[in-house]
Amino acid sequence: MPIATNEQYQEMLKKAKEGKYAFPAINITSLETLNASMAAFAEAETDGIIQVSTGGGKHATGPIGDMALGAEVLAEAAHTLAEKYSVLFALHTDHCHPSNLEPFLDPLLEASRKRIAAGKGPLFQSHMFDGSPVPMKENLDTSEKYLKLCAELNIILEIETGVVGGEEDGHDTSGVSADKLYTTPEDMCDAFERLDKIGPWMLAATFGNVHGVYKPGNVKLKPTILKDGQAAVKAKFKTSDNPLFLVFHGGSGSTLEEIHETLDYGVIKMNVDTDCQYAFSRPIADHFFKNYDGVLKVDGEVGNKKFYDPRGYLKAATGGMKDRIIQAVKDLRGEGKSILK
Ligand SMILES: [Zn+2]
Repeated sequence: MPIATNEQYQEMLKKAKEGKYAFPAINITSLETLNASMAAFAEAETDGIIQVSTGGGKHATGPIGDMALGAEVLAEAAHTLAEKYSVLFALHTDHCHPSNLEPFLDPLLEASRKRIAAGKGPLFQSHMFDGSPVPMKENLDTSEKYLKLCAELNIILEIETGVVGGEEDGHDTSGVSADKLYTTPEDMCDAFERLDKIGPWMLAATFGNVHGVYKPGNVKLKPTILKDGQAAVKAKFKTSDNPLFLVFHGGSGSTLEEIHETLDYGVIKMNVDTDCQYAFSRPIADHFFKNYDGVLKVDGEVGNKKFYDPRGYLKAATGGMKDRIIQAVKDLRGEGKSILK
């Protein structure tokens, strides 16, 4: 199937909210991680969200180091490969801080503009603007500006209120004050008031969630923050239940109980990056330790080509990541939920 249209993507998100399930959003940085993601969603018979971060885009261009170009290369590969699958994929870009709007989001929107002029769909189906480093007023001003630009191109915008803790992609928020890790019902109402009339959008509302994986007990999630925010928006704007489409960042390492609670409160997308990174690397470690004298030329020997051909261990890594994504789909109650079924 071609990559999801805007209408299909909106239907995916709407059905997920009604059915109280969510899509794992998987970060890709290479063809291997893209293939792992597509294969996993297809095997789980669900549609999926595949995303590229600024660092992932940069990585994909090697010494060129161009985050937007790398995201474009990966997205174009996804558009081509998606045709061979019978489930839908939506492409998304992860955290774009205000300082990266110019080098990352602006050129990607321009690429979508060109594709649309040529009769195609947008390059990415959603983008994230992360205004958490700036004051709320400035965050919403910029979110509003970019939601307008996105809506014109049939693209959904994800924004963030509060701050996701931890460290990801070189952005370390471990120093921010603890209260910032929990968004407020007022912030969620302000975002709804400013944005909902413009076009489809998603909200990464923070509730103590952190990027990365921590030992049990170190993360104090308060999912009721999401419930309270939904209730506040419903009361103030006379909407139906769970008016907000919520995104759960830092999903790696959360308990099933915590995850399920957030689904009841309208979470429709959960970013799972760290656990997938580990699942990709683990089989490689296994391969290298088990085949030590095959992958290395030890004591004047010549090694074993079968073991140092990167295709062998990258295939194992892709399989490890695929299995972890299928687990995430099941954890999010998403199995067998493709809208095409
Ligand atoms: Zn995040």
